[in-house]
Amino acid sequence: MSENKDFLRAIVEEDLSAGKYNEVVTRFPPEPNGFPHIGHAKSICINFGIARDYKGHCNLRMDDTNPTTEDTKYVEALKDAVQWLGFDWGENVYFTSNYFPKLYAYAVQLIKMGKAYVDSASEEEIRENRGTVTQDGKRSIYANRSIEENLDLFERMKKGEFKDGEHILRAKIDMSAANMQLRDPLLYRIRHANHHRTGDEWCIYPMYDFAHCLSDYIEGITHSICTLEFENNRDIYNWVLETLGLEKPRPYQHEFARLGINYTVMSKRKLLELVQEGHVNGWDDPRMPTIAGYKRRGYTKESILNFCDQIGIAKANSMVDVAQLEFCIRDDLNTKVPRVLTVLDPLKVTIENYEGSQEIDAPYYPHDVPKEGTRKVPFSKELYIEREDFSENPPKGFYRLTPDQPVRLRHGFIITCKEVIKDEQGNITEIKAEYYANSQSGNDTSGIKVKSAIQWVSAQHAKKVEVRLYDRLYANEAPESLEDLNPDSLEVIKEALIEPAVITDKPDVRFQFERQGYFYADPIDYTDEKPVFNKIVGLKDSWAKKKAPEKKTESAPKQQAKKEMIHGEAEALTSIQQELFDKYTKELKLNAEVANILARDEYLSNFYEEALVSLNSPVGLANIITNDVARVIKENQSTELKFTAIQIAQLIKMVDEETISNKIAKQVFEEMIQSGENPTKIVEAKELVQISDPAVILPIIEDVIAKNPDNLEKFKAGNTKLSGFFVGQVLKATGGKANPKVVNQLVAKALNT
Ligand code: ATP
Ligand code: MG
Repeated sequence: MSENKDFLRAIVEEDLSAGKYNEVVTRFPPEPNGFPHIGHAKSICINFGIARDYKGHCNLRMDDTNPTTEDTKYVEALKDAVQWLGFDWGENVYFTSNYFPKLYAYAVQLIKMGKAYVDSASEEEIRENRGTVTQDGKRSIYANRSIEENLDLFERMKKGEFKDGEHILRAKIDMSAANMQLRDPLLYRIRHANHHRTGDEWCIYPMYDFAHCLSDYIEGITHSICTLEFENNRDIYNWVLETLGLEKPRPYQHEFARLGINYTVMSKRKLLELVQEGHVNGWDDPRMPTIAGYKRRGYTKESILNFCDQIGIAKANSMVDVAQLEFCIRDDLNTKVPRVLTVLDPLKVTIENYEGSQEIDAPYYPHDVPKEGTRKVPFSKELYIEREDFSENPPKGFYRLTPDQPVRLRHGFIITCKEVIKDEQGNITEIKAEYYANSQSGNDTSGIKVKSAIQWVSAQHAKKVEVRLYDRLYANEAPESLEDLNPDSLEVIKEALIEPAVITDKPDVRFQFERQGYFYADPIDYTDEKPVFNKIVGLKDSWAKKKAPEKKTESAPKQQAKKEMIHGEAEALTSIQQELFDKYTKELKLNAEVANILARDEYLSNFYEEALVSLNSPVGLANIITNDVARVIKENQSTELKFTAIQIAQLIKMVDEETISNKIAKQVFEEMIQSGENPTKIVEAKELVQISDPAVILPIIEDVIAKNPDNLEKFKAGNTKLSGFFVGQVLKATGGKANPKVVNQLVAKALNT
């Protein structure tokens, strides 16, 4: 293993040899709010794989801290996926909810240490006061509460005395930390909701940042492996464990790049939408990128494990071509499964010089001669071939049956076309043919040359089956919405024909239907009366052709199969990233920190470039994208956003033109996150246009001054800082709509007269 070791295994080996831990303990910690997908398979392979390789243990832990979205059916699906992939979690499945009492006690301990406080500010205020990358946050006025008051409030939160959102428990860390995650992160929130395991016992629930590190600690996890979005949360992870003074050995967090696959959506939220809105037939629909979906489709666990192994473990996000996954299943089945004859779109062929019937011995594994296994294929006067295997006016390079060109029936005889029968509309309904009795495959003395062999079945012996032809769920390489769904992702053939041995002998559940692809006996709908087969994958990558020629090389799976591995912690910029960084700092005058974030993140930089095309406001766009857009991506753990780069440009344009204030822009942005509505529409609908007209603002200023005579006195006595107070009050009175510049000037004037 040491040869091809990834960076996580390198860390584990180092820790073991340094004696940091006696045994490696990892965990796979899904939230049971959806069926696990292929991205989870990667995480399962990493966590369980490392535990296996170093003779340690991997816990399966349901990270069930959000009662409103979770369900036991998802717990079962997760267990099923891990088991199916061949991993073993041992005696217990763990649940974060089992630790609720302990977590509560830890929170109380933090409060007693003066390290946590109950904040009663609104969600919006909290968000606003967090500041930005370039601007320090502001600590909540509630942070000064006494320990006693905090303890009392927290207990009453637990008892259910408050409504959702009324209070929240926060860590007291640092409101000007460069890492925004450390700006007094939220630890506990109120949620009056029924939990799938704890019922109504709790109405406060720990946040990820608090629950995760402590659950790891409680379980004795050594290596807490998660995806890159949590990189900045690592500081909180450490802060919690260190502040509570928890004994060593303690867990450490390590991040790797999440798996993204083109033509595929992977967020559970999006997958849930597909299920709920009926775009697929449930979580295990064979088109879904869920483990249950792949399983139902006929993917083998080996193909999934191989895929996870091939893509490797990297520290930089990248997109994997779905063709690589398809390659893995094809590659696995190629040598394993029997090859049989089916006809999906039958065209009748009558062999005029043949009577009766006979059986032809044919190997199931013709490509692998030593592999045993044959069946009898009945041959008779009336056959069916695939309609497209006959052409009356063949295009150049057509190697199959034509009026002038004989063809071999796979495993059987050579036939030649004598007459084409058509109906009144001119559709071909039958081919009258003749066979060459001395052309039997393997014993051919006819001397007739053919260019190909085609599949066929005997009309009288063939069995009728339903065949479900599945294709990629999305037609778009980077699917964003339901509009990108592939309308042809499922075609059902109600009456396809199959050679009888498949149904009567049942040599396997997976087959290669010769020249058609790989198929799987549907594990749920298949019955002897009505056999049903799912198409797993075609024999070739039919999508590669559809793509632009220059992309062809990219999708060649064998080349893609190269492992991508990057070692080390703080990686240097790649040359492309460096180029971007230089452009951003030198040409666009971004500060180094912002430029660094953009340059390192391909998604964000693309988003940024796209926004720049519509609006030449490099600094304003960079700030919102690295700060707010990045936050949304992190919170959703997904780059599938409701808003577009162009809409962000529209938003900043309004700020630049002073149509709206910065503060209102934030409010509009929050709305865009939720609704995806156009910013200009939001501003219009909610009447958020900035007020710059002195005639409107002056009366408000007068009103504020009149209501605060004490502060006016103090100001006049020399406390000039109080002008800020008045400005603030005026802005507040206008709901943040007043133009701060104008207010500043007018307030200064009003106070000094
Ligand atoms: P989603 O955004 O799809 O809902 P998630 O990250 O919220 O996924 P969890 O159930 O919280 O899903 O994740 C369980 C584990 O699987 C976590 O450790 C997470 O990092 C990992 N994981 C989730 N998606 C991927 C992915 N695409 N690639 C690799 N690991 C993933
Ligand atoms: Mg999640």
